[in-house]
Amino acid sequence: MLHRNNFLVGHGPAREQERVAALADLQVVDGGPEETFDRIARLAKASLGFPLAYVSLIDLDRQILKTHMAEPVCDGSRNTAFCSVTIETQDVLVIPDTLADDRFSGFPQVVGEPYIRSYWGVPLTTRMGFNVGALCVLDRVPRDPRDGDLSLLKELGRLTVECMELRAQATTDVLTGVQCRRSFFAEGERLFATRHPEREPLSCVVLDVDHFKRINDEFGHAVGDEVLRTLGDLLRNELRPDSVAGRIGGEEFAILLPGEGIQAAFAVGERLRTKFADLGGHRLPPVSASFGLAERSDSDVVLGDLVRRADQQTYLAKRAGRNCTYPKLVSAAPAQTAALCLEISEVSDVR
Ligand code: GH3
Ligand code: MG
Ligand code: MG
Repeated sequence: MLHRNNFLVGHGPAREQERVAALADLQVVDGGPEETFDRIARLAKASLGFPLAYVSLIDLDRQILKTHMAEPVCDGSRNTAFCSVTIETQDVLVIPDTLADDRFSGFPQVVGEPYIRSYWGVPLTTRMGFNVGALCVLDRVPRDPRDGDLSLLKELGRLTVECMELRAQATTDVLTGVQCRRSFFAEGERLFATRHPEREPLSCVVLDVDHFKRINDEFGHAVGDEVLRTLGDLLRNELRPDSVAGRIGGEEFAILLPGEGIQAAFAVGERLRTKFADLGGHRLPPVSASFGLAERSDSDVVLGDLVRRADQQTYLAKRAGRNCTYPKLVSAAPAQTAALCLEISEVSDVR
């Protein structure tokens, strides 16, 4: 077990990538301010007697507010965020007077509205020891902490990060690390409802591990689990952060690709298919999966319609011998994507 005091906190550039990955795993970066964090900020304000409090996350180069704020307490840049400095500390960052501290005296929220004069912030430290953000209280007058103030702030900080971790656990499939079925459909429905069906394409890839029952029978359930875990790693490592991947059945997964049409979905499906098959035979038994694709169309009323159409293509891929992607598109250079051609006539059979 890594010891946070020596190693992880005050991560430095070498650990920054892992810190940002730990933040992404919490699945809290998107979605804007939330009532849960407003509630914690209200508790912090009321218990410490501060007029302002917020929860913020520090991503690679930006600060993300998770609390509704009426005032311009930050401009979104990591460089002018108090909390960027807080995440480099192991304990609490107390700035009793911002104007007396060269690091902060020139910050826009100090020299302009809302004229912050004091800041106390506690890092949000995950169980693995990564500081992903901060809970802080701020005032327009200089403030020194009294006995018990900082331990109270620390307790609220722990509560904030525990809340984030528990929520991530509830939405993540424990074995594979991708979203569980319920969470995949919840997030997918949000994507489906908020994107303009004509201007913003949306594609779905469904994949099903081939002869998985046979893998379990021949090599044991633990090896079967390892195959699924490896597939989960592949999906999490290979897909763009804006895509949504979920385990929608025992050995069946679905991926949503916002902004992408069926040609890009085909490229993604083929890349995953070949990489997965390449993983078999070394540490794992020989493995493969069958892939089905669909692009959102007018006939899709809810997300389930799109996923079902992709699933029907998976069935065709199984029938065609497995370890392939349906519909079988001719790989085209980006400029030629308009001239897509479907090789397999069965595609229309299932629509
Ligand atoms: P096909 O190529 O047609 O998809 O055949 P298949 O054997 O993969 O499909 P089938 O639906 O017959 O079997 C799926 C198996 O997946 C049966 C089930 O016991 C197994 N399975 C489901 N969830 C898990 C899991 O979490 N771990 C393991 N090891 N096996 C699982
Ligand atoms: Mg299967
Ligand atoms: Mg299946």
